[in-house]
Amino acid sequence: AKRGGRGRAFSYRPGMAEAAAEARRLEADLRLALETGNFQIAYQPIVAMDEGRTIGFEALVRWNDPERGLVPPDRFIPLAEANGMIVDLGAFVLSRACKDAAAWGTDQFVAVNVSAVQLSSPRLMAHVVGALAASGLPAHRLEIELTETAIVANAAQVGHVLAGLRTLGVRVAMDDFGTGYSSLAHLRDLPLDRIKIDRSFVSSASTDPNSLAVLRAVTQLGRDIGIETLGEGVETQEQLALLRDLGCRAAQGYLLGRPDFEVRDAAWTPERGAA
Ligand code: C2E
Ligand code: CA
Ligand code: CA
Ligand code: CA
Repeated sequence: AKRGGRGRAFSYRPGMAEAAAEARRLEADLRLALETGNFQIAYQPIVAMDEGRTIGFEALVRWNDPERGLVPPDRFIPLAEANGMIVDLGAFVLSRACKDAAAWGTDQFVAVNVSAVQLSSPRLMAHVVGALAASGLPAHRLEIELTETAIVANAAQVGHVLAGLRTLGVRVAMDDFGTGYSSLAHLRDLPLDRIKIDRSFVSSASTDPNSLAVLRAVTQLGRDIGIETLGEGVETQEQLALLRDLGCRAAQGYLLGRPDFEVRDAAWTPERGAA
């Protein structure tokens, strides 16, 4: 313990002040990065099971900090959500991703993650419309990924926003399905184009019968209600084969392709499997 200025004792753990100072530095540096646009986007292929074709890419942001190097999103997205910077950062990712995709010269879509805070922002629609207009990307080549947590946190406005996106022709995917407040009402009531089944189910399906049962049920449900399903985090041939057998429409994961600053189609064909 250490004596406070007025003689009061307060508990002090070594490293606490340093951690607080680093958190302040991180926030200040992130603000600066936003002003200079010091971010890069890695693209990870999404493949269709039936043809083995890369149908699109997910945009995954990285912060390119001069001192820290390439900072992964888990280290700054939560901070940007807490201080509201995510709205401007999200706008940056949207416009960059649309611009990049417009230059691919293919019909592949780009999937962009939108957080709960962005979803609650009245500026989101303007950012989407602006990114499409500035890039010339056809709306059907943009997919917005929302988590269940974001949907629940914005229950009142989410119907409107999704209807607005649909009117534009933008597709909507539910991300990390199965990890949040999974509600069948969402699948019934919201205009969704894709369900991305969380990696945790894919990775444990071979060892955990309950995970396998959830995978089977969700792919079946997707078929029945006309929403495409995608298995996330596919790392092995076995997982890929399982998802195909279950009738999953698409897959994404390290086996098929890692996020990369170069856009590369997945090295995979239904006949020969992943390279
Ligand atoms: P996510 O949306 O679920 O994205 C998938 C994450 O899983 C990515 O991590 C990706 O690199 C990783 N991944 C893909 N395939 C595999 C695999 O086979 N095995 C394993 N172990 N991991 C795999 P990343 O790029 O570090 O992103 C983490 C999270 O950060 C994302 O999770 C997303 O929630 C968030 N994020 C990334 N970019 C953005 C963004 O532009 N905006 C917002 N709001 N969030 C973002
Ligand atoms: Ca995602
Ligand atoms: Ca995901
Ligand atoms: Ca995730």
